[in-house]
Amino acid sequence: MKIWICPGSFDPVTKGHIDIISRACLMCDKLIVAVGENKQKKSVFTLEERIDFIERSLNGMKNVEVESFHGLLIDYARSKNAIGIVKGLRAVSDFEYEMQMAFLNKRMDENIETVFLMTNMNYSFLSSSAVRELALHGGPIEGLVPDSIIEDVRRKYHINSVR
Ligand code: ADP
Repeated sequence: MKIWICPGSFDPVTKGHIDIISRACLMCDKLIVAVGENKQKKSVFTLEERIDFIERSLNGMKNVEVESFHGLLIDYARSKNAIGIVKGLRAVSDFEYEMQMAFLNKRMDENIETVFLMTNMNYSFLSSSAVRELALHGGPIEGLVPDSIIEDVRRKYHINSVR
């Protein structure tokens, strides 16, 4: 069974993420979306919310599971018997960081490959941080995050702003 891991912070999941997940799951037997902590700063959405948002956006993708992970990605991948880590690439700016991570992970386990899928052109500008910025200021997030979570994303910022 060929298992791939698709890691990220998904704070919140965007249509760019879902595009990568939907394409990646066609190329393996099981895809585990691994939701981790954001290294740069505390996430806006809780781990439970981020997992729930992804699960509600899968639209019947049968071989996709969503889990949380802590610690080193490579240790997690090994514990799941994964043979690959799949990442999306948006721009040259993603490349340098991703190449470094891929080399480091390969150094720790040469049997686990990192696979890159090029972003869908429509989502090449899209990031979770852009969605958060828009939502914070009441901007339009339609078309950027899955329809099923639009209201939840908006509500989070509304609740925060009226507190
Ligand atoms: P972000 O950079 O949006 O905060 P994550 O850290 O959750 O996202 O990223 C998880 C993975 O998804 C990374 O490999 C990232 O390159 C990829 N990704 C994020 N947004 C897109 C997009 N719009 N198109 C393709 N891949 C993406």
